[in-house]
Amino acid sequence: MSPEHKPVKRFIAGAVCPRCGVMDRIVSYVDSSQRSVRECIDCGFHEKLVEPEAAAELETRVTKKRSQPVKAQPLKFYKNVRGKNTKDSPG
Ligand SMILES: [Zn+2]
Repeated sequence: MSPEHKPVKRFIAGAVCPRCGVMDRIVSYVDSSQRSVRECIDCGFHEKLVEPEAAAELETRVTKKRSQPVKAQPLKFYKNVRGKNTKDSPG
């Protein structure tokens, strides 16, 4: 029992397979690499759709670094006592 990535394949209504020319045999799904894939269930034709937006989003996900744990720094409160210094003035 291993959790597998099962892409949800959806039929594209009215889509015609460029290879066999059969309509309503094209399914669309997203593979494990988050890429849209069109596949013909009739002849086995498949192509990956690389959209600029999807690619950019993927790139940001890849380049996104893990958030490093921030070390807790002890806050030091310095007393800012720069008030008026009453000097001893003669007179
Ligand atoms: Zn086909």
